Amino acid sequence: MSYTYETQYNSPNYQKGRPAGAPAFIVIHHWGIDGQKHHNVVSYLCRKGGNSSAHYVASAGIVTCIVDPDDRAWHAGKTGNPRGIGIECRPECSDGDFRTVAELIAELRKTYGNLPLVGHKDHMNTDCPGRWYPRLQELSNLANSLKGGTSTPAPAPSLDLEALATAVIAGKYGNGEARKRALGANYQAVQAIVNKRLTGKSKPAPSVNLEALATAVIAGKYGNGEARKRALGANYQAVQAIVNKRLKG
Ligand SMILES: [Zn+2]
Repeated sequence: MSYTYETQYNSPNYQKGRPAGAPAFIVIHHWGIDGQKHHNVVSYLCRKGGNSSAHYVASAGIVTCIVDPDDRAWHAGKTGNPRGIGIECRPECSDGDFRTVAELIAELRKTYGNLPLVGHKDHMNTDCPGRWYPRLQELSNLANSLKGGTSTPAPAPSLDLEALATAVIAGKYGNGEARKRALGANYQAVQAIVNKRLTGKSKPAPSVNLEALATAVIAGKYGNGEARKRALGANYQAVQAIVNKRLKG
């Protein structure tokens, strides 16, 4: 994510827990008046004895969490509060605002699953969320594409490997050791495809390129610890073994 994430502001305006069940949707709000400053909105929603709050205040490059999403903030009434996660967005809805909110949604969906987006007006008689309302589908799509880019990077190799195999067969990678050097980490997977195509033998081509995954892990694209484990799934042990071997030299 490319925004600053703040947790030092806490709203007292919420109820503990989610007795009706885990968060089931995200309620998009706007804070209503153009020109209002992010942290003034944070202060207002964190006021003592207030009757409103949200889980997040978000604008270009900054997200402030003021109520834990596992608790109920007060933002969308009787139908919205029990299972909704409320995000207060900057009403101007600039490209930067839009991007940051999409990144926040992508993060939330990693934790809570593919939560749908609704507008405040879907739960109460209000104009909120203004300019955001006609763009909820677009916002949802952008969030999903961001989520795909960071948490479930289906390794592209399967396509690339097929293309490499075609190039190998066309003679573009030479033979023997030269081919091995030219293909590097892809050699075994590509050669398996080549063999299969040329001989019809069904030596199963690996469905993922573990060497390429290991390279991505070392480049930091799969995070650390549990996050990496989750992201790599069934490939974790095999990939981690390659990573360990390479890093040990
Ligand atoms: Zn609202």
